[in-house]
Amino acid sequence: MTGPVLLSPPDVGALEESYVLRALRSGWVAPAGPELAEFEREVAARVGTGHAVAVSSGTAALHLALLALGTGPGDVVLVPTLTFAATANAVRYTGAEPVFVDCDPATGNVDVALLADLLDRLTADGERVAAVIPVDLFGTCVDYASLLPRCEAAGVPVVEDAAEALGATYRGRPAGSFGRAAALSFNGNKIITTSGGGMLVSDDADLVDRCRYLATQARQPVLHYEHTEIGYNYRLSNVLAALGRAQLCRLDAMMARRRELRERYAKLFAAVGGVRLLGDHDPGSNCWLTVVVVDPVEAGWDVIDLAAHLRARQIETRPVWKPMHLQPVFASARAALTGAAARLFARGLTLPSGSALTEPQISRVLETISEFLEARR
Ligand SMILES: *Cc1c(COP(=O)(O)O)cnc(C)c1O
Repeated sequence: MTGPVLLSPPDVGALEESYVLRALRSGWVAPAGPELAEFEREVAARVGTGHAVAVSSGTAALHLALLALGTGPGDVVLVPTLTFAATANAVRYTGAEPVFVDCDPATGNVDVALLADLLDRLTADGERVAAVIPVDLFGTCVDYASLLPRCEAAGVPVVEDAAEALGATYRGRPAGSFGRAAALSFNGNKIITTSGGGMLVSDDADLVDRCRYLATQARQPVLHYEHTEIGYNYRLSNVLAALGRAQLCRLDAMMARRRELRERYAKLFAAVGGVRLLGDHDPGSNCWLTVVVVDPVEAGWDVIDLAAHLRARQIETRPVWKPMHLQPVFASARAALTGAAARLFARGLTLPSGSALTEPQISRVLETISEFLEARR
């Protein structure tokens, strides 16, 4: 064995080094500078939105989008229960209440029919729903053709949480281009990374301007430091933007690596009863993380057994996100549930999916899984 195999390690090399060095040598070692402006322009072009503002995290982008839509105390925001805590945390930062919605068992993405019913019920009860935040889970887009008309009919804006989905498409349209605004993440484990960072993208120039202002301590455009509102220190560093630009050049190649890996997993599990890959049939997925879902009765084994077998050979896996309605911190939150997210949490496992995995590492993962399956045939 040659050391541990990680789930989704950062994939950085000579190109990133040269871009970061260029930024350092330029003297723009601050949350302002030419790399930032270019990174915003390039990401907006990639996503197909008119505007973008680079920020310190995907969570900050979500927070700003909600603030710009006027979300505050007394409002509710609909959030899928199957997501990373950041989605729901951003809602709480504004003082609004997240209400959780269960998922479609095939993709793990929000159950649109359930969400639409909840939306109707809440608005009929006179509650102000400030936003809906669909999450493109593990890099597979939500069913926007169903979701967007329902939100539009209810007059509720959509903020797309595309933190996991840069590069993905839905019916040919890029993730990040759905809804009033979208949040992207460049955290260390995401499909491209700035070590930590994010971006808010939107076609709405006023909304993006408002977010840029709030992210810069709500500083008025005058020379002396004048403030009429509470702001945030949420801008991304110019040095990290340079790192992001190098990563963006390599996005397509990195997605292709992840897709190839997913196809090898699909082949490996194809003939195994009770086992499927989450959202496997989506050709637009960016294949950020591959998730195997195991029905223990049909398969005759539990996904926890596979995780233990891999861990003993230093191969990292992770459970699917623990649903928000099962989190102690959100125990008192309201939720519309079918049991699908809890079931995926119990039966799902994310497998090593990184584009930086070497061929010997991939072979080791596939052989270790084969060995596990052989022993249970
Ligand atoms: C990673 C992630 C975020 C937050 O991004 P950060 O850059 O880590 O703040 C938000 N939502 C989802 C679904 C994520 O996976």
